[in-house]
Amino acid sequence: MRAWFRNVYLAAVTIAAGMYVTLWYFVQSFRRGTFTGHFAYPERPVPIRPRYRGFHRFDLTTCIGCDKCARACPVDCIYIEKEKAPPPAKGFVVTGFKIDYTKCMFCALCVDPCPVDCIFMGSNHDISTYTRDGCVVDYAKLPLNVAWGQATLNPTAVQESKRVSLPVWTKAGAGASASEEKKPVVPGATEEKK
Ligand code: SF4
Ligand code: SF4
Repeated sequence: MRAWFRNVYLAAVTIAAGMYVTLWYFVQSFRRGTFTGHFAYPERPVPIRPRYRGFHRFDLTTCIGCDKCARACPVDCIYIEKEKAPPPAKGFVVTGFKIDYTKCMFCALCVDPCPVDCIFMGSNHDISTYTRDGCVVDYAKLPLNVAWGQATLNPTAVQESKRVSLPVWTKAGAGASASEEKKPVVPGATEEKK
């Protein structure tokens, strides 16, 4: 009989403890308000931490096409296309710099090996796309303000970047003078890097 009362007592205490936790979070949630009211996303961006790892920022004008980032990537999701720069220029002209975000795990291992500091983890976190193909982002063909993280990496910009066949920037002296650089029209490109 004593054991029976003890079991009843333990059950009641356990349920009360569980309900206390539930009630505590219920009150906290009530006092905090809804997340949607708090952040008003997407009209106002959700605040992120300074070291947040979002979609990359990439500077095509600095990249030398050395492949170090692609070799460091543990899931092989960086695809670099480049051509030998015609003389007298040396090195490579990067014509494609694709990152497959269906594979990328945002580990940032591609950032440190870069000898010219042209790839970083950015603060963009919204890249909803219309198709799975939209997850493969070619930073060499995005508008520069988008590639560099100054504008949102939105699905429209990504889709439009897949229509251009030339890079948005070519190395000065690589077959054409700076004034003769090929500048394909990219819808949505509102400003270019000076
Ligand atoms: S963050 Fe990691 S997984 Fe993504 S591209 Fe860089 S090295 Fe590869
Ligand atoms: S490591 Fe840097 S310079 Fe080399 S290919 Fe990657 S982004 Fe370009």
